[in-house]
Amino acid sequence: MQAVIWGCRGSIPVATPATTIQHKIKTALSHARGRHFSDQAAIDRFVEDELPWPVANSFGGNSSCVQIVADSEEYLICDLGSGLREFGMAMLQQHGPGKPQTYNVLLSHLHWDHIMGFPFFPPAFIPGNRIRIHSCHPDPVEAFWRQQSAPCFPVDFDALSADIEFVPLVPGEPAEVAGATVHAILQYHEGDSFGYRIEQGGQSIIYSTDSEHKQENAREFQKFADFFAQADLVIFDAQYSLAEMVSLKEDWGHSSNLIGVELCHMAKAKHLLLYHHEPAYDDETLYKVLRETIRYEELARPEGADPLQVSSAYDGLQVVL
Ligand SMILES: [Zn+2]
Ligand SMILES: [Zn+2]
Repeated sequence: MQAVIWGCRGSIPVATPATTIQHKIKTALSHARGRHFSDQAAIDRFVEDELPWPVANSFGGNSSCVQIVADSEEYLICDLGSGLREFGMAMLQQHGPGKPQTYNVLLSHLHWDHIMGFPFFPPAFIPGNRIRIHSCHPDPVEAFWRQQSAPCFPVDFDALSADIEFVPLVPGEPAEVAGATVHAILQYHEGDSFGYRIEQGGQSIIYSTDSEHKQENAREFQKFADFFAQADLVIFDAQYSLAEMVSLKEDWGHSSNLIGVELCHMAKAKHLLLYHHEPAYDDETLYKVLRETIRYEELARPEGADPLQVSSAYDGLQVVL
């Protein structure tokens, strides 16, 4: 399987201001001072291999949306944040309007940052496309109707031409979706959210966002470690630092990078992907969080355990298992 990140931010999409881009250019030029680049390939090498990651790259600013590539003709997407628009454009380019596709969605919950991309999803406007929105919430359709109704939006939900169906999921009852087996778990978050374990061909991906974990509640903590057990990839809500979580932002419904490491160690998972980034963090801050998390993983790793790979999600990242 593969996971493709179309939107990695939490809470609200963010754009990179001109001052940040200028800062990146100035930093890149100072790194290049005194250097001569004989051809384009030399420039490419310098940018890709020599410049610090946050100077040459960006985490991006779209809100939650991840494509899971499994062995199926049908598409599988976790959440419909603003990253969905980019995914939809890519689908339009790939298939055009004349070749109907089936899009399966696993919805974590109905907060705006997780559904706001849907009104801008071109395949929803094309007759013949099938969209199946799987959700553990009792009445997801109302949230979709409300976000696409006057005076907030000019096109009503019922004006969409695709065949859109809402499919209920129940935690504890595995379901077959786009050729994969999907398990759901209830998470601690305002209004409830649900995490998913997606399994196919002996591989497993966890999608767990908008979920607060309280370490003092050992039984609940162990329940998530069991849900994450031996996962090849854990896409994890790491919006806050642990210090923020336990002091300022307790009960805000989000988790931290360090809790992600703890749970993955307990679960003997292989790869932790930090996700649902705080919109106030710039590229340098998020990169620093990643470096610190990698260092913490080394220090906290149980004796004799295999290393846990730690990465941070950015828009456009593809993780191939
Ligand atoms: Zn969110
Ligand atoms: Zn939320």
